[in-house]
Amino acid sequence: MNYSEIMVRYGELSTKGKNRKLFIDQLSRNVKQALSDFPMVKVRGQRDRMHLILNGANAHEVMGQLDRIFGIQSFSPVIKIEKSVDQLIETAVQLMKETYQEGQTYKIVTKRADHSFELDTNGVNQTVGNAIVDAIPYVKVDVRQPDLKLRIEVRQDGIYLTSEVIKGAGGLPVGSSGKGMLMLSGGIDSPVAGYLAMKRGVKIEAVHFASPPYTSPQALDKAKDLTVKLVPYVGSINFIEVPFTEIQEEIKNKVPEGYLMTITRRMMMRITDRIREERKGLAIINGESLGQVASQTMHSMMAINDVTTTPVIRPVVTMDKLEIIDIAQEIDTFDLACQPFEDCCTVFAPPQPKTRPTVEKAREYEARMAVDELVERAVAGIKVTKIEANQHYLTQNDQDDFDDLL
Ligand code: ATP
Ligand code: MG
Repeated sequence: MNYSEIMVRYGELSTKGKNRKLFIDQLSRNVKQALSDFPMVKVRGQRDRMHLILNGANAHEVMGQLDRIFGIQSFSPVIKIEKSVDQLIETAVQLMKETYQEGQTYKIVTKRADHSFELDTNGVNQTVGNAIVDAIPYVKVDVRQPDLKLRIEVRQDGIYLTSEVIKGAGGLPVGSSGKGMLMLSGGIDSPVAGYLAMKRGVKIEAVHFASPPYTSPQALDKAKDLTVKLVPYVGSINFIEVPFTEIQEEIKNKVPEGYLMTITRRMMMRITDRIREERKGLAIINGESLGQVASQTMHSMMAINDVTTTPVIRPVVTMDKLEIIDIAQEIDTFDLACQPFEDCCTVFAPPQPKTRPTVEKAREYEARMAVDELVERAVAGIKVTKIEANQHYLTQNDQDDFDDLL
């Protein structure tokens, strides 16, 4: 079929009142970025719909870029023809032949904005309906709950036809809710947390704590590869590597075993918050899930959260591990997250962290360290890498080593 445009229906954003224009502008930018390989496509974000005028681009290739863009409820490939009855019949029949499957029911839905057209709404329905029965004798009509709707719109500038509605990613356009710092480890939970935050319109930057030589270069590459998996939803993500070795050693030397985890997390939270401030983020996002491990009790969250008043968004906090894994599989981060390159927490963590740490004790132990200087040095040493689609950081050798372990 020679489609002329893709019609995009907005999701929730159409209910956002005054903010609507901002949302539509953000979505237009995101769509343009995703379609950068198709410079001929014109993006027109109107109040109720967005129209992607194809100008010769392949409709299916363009649609392939749309299904991971948040803020799109659904989209349809549309054919525009001249206002001629013969052309209308021919195109409608051809479209039905390509999209109707035997056994399905269908219905024609006609809208006529141009009242000068020679057929009225009923006339269009009857004329096109008859031609379709002639061409596809086994076709079945159901006007109440059809499987397929053939939509025909007669407008001043032509007739528009479409028969497919493809589900979009839903959510809100990335960037429309501002920017947040995702604390990204190499695990299963934090990439899922990042994905869910993006789905609600948050643009993310990934903050990763690395403690070489205790943590391997592969652990770092793995975190970068996880970031690569999140890139298709936004176009690019800044990956911020934080040097954490000095702090981990200091904690190990000064803090009793039961509080190693709590103080480590407090330091991570502080540093993330400082980076957020410098880079103008509005929130911190992490992968904490209530009760999943000893360090993720509410007592523990209380003790860790003590270091900041910045909103900490925990998208997976109430999810079961299996629910999180389902999403990780859907966004293809699960297999990567399961590779056993240890991150800094596993290396330094005691087997039994305290499940009920207190704020008072945490503050007391921390007073043994030069917290501010440590934080400033770590922030001064960050390394920012812009991560884009289709990059790979773990090499085939790393992959083979991992496979050998299985
Ligand atoms: P994940 O699967 O995301 O690693 P987890 O269940 O292993 O989570 P923890 O190790 O307790 O949980 O970490 C809790 C959260 O702290 C993580 O989800 C992540 O947001 C943050 N975090 C932990 N380690 C790091 C790290 N090395 N760099 C950045 N953030 C980290
Ligand atoms: Mg982890």
